[in-house]
Amino acid sequence: MKTVQRTGPLSLLYAFMDAARGRASVEGEVPRRERPIGLYVLEAGGCEGCFMEIESLNGSAFALEQAGFVCVSDPADADWLLLTGAVTRVCAEMVDRVWRAMPPGRSLIAVGACAVDGGPFPAGYATLGGLEALTPVRRSIAGCPPSPDDILRALQELAQV
Ligand code: SF4
Repeated sequence: MKTVQRTGPLSLLYAFMDAARGRASVEGEVPRRERPIGLYVLEAGGCEGCFMEIESLNGSAFALEQAGFVCVSDPADADWLLLTGAVTRVCAEMVDRVWRAMPPGRSLIAVGACAVDGGPFPAGYATLGGLEALTPVRRSIAGCPPSPDDILRALQELAQV
């Protein structure tokens, strides 16, 4: 596995990732069933294919809200962060900002090959190569891109845990 330097301009991201490790076991167990689960979708350096598949869930064909979820525009209203893209170095600070703005009980979900392990954009001078090498994620949804059906099914399974 490639070793990533943990100092310099990305130190903020690593602080966030380290904090996430400590929270994962506790916050992942917080039940949030009394209202729709708020999803904040963040594209962090992919081709936007996965982002568009998630967006299509908002269409009538997939009825995201009937399944118990709602897409929110403010991270402060979000329960789960759906991240797409390989996490480019220029996006790292944005990911950190969004994560910090979310309330306790938040979960991190990697959507698509890029977000899982970099996919076609492995770690290098421009990207961090996805989330799994950086931090525990609550759920990884494979595919390039995963279909809206795959994404919705994974979210529903996760909501039942
Ligand atoms: S996993 Fe594939 S479709 Fe999704 S952002 Fe990466 S390259 Fe695009």
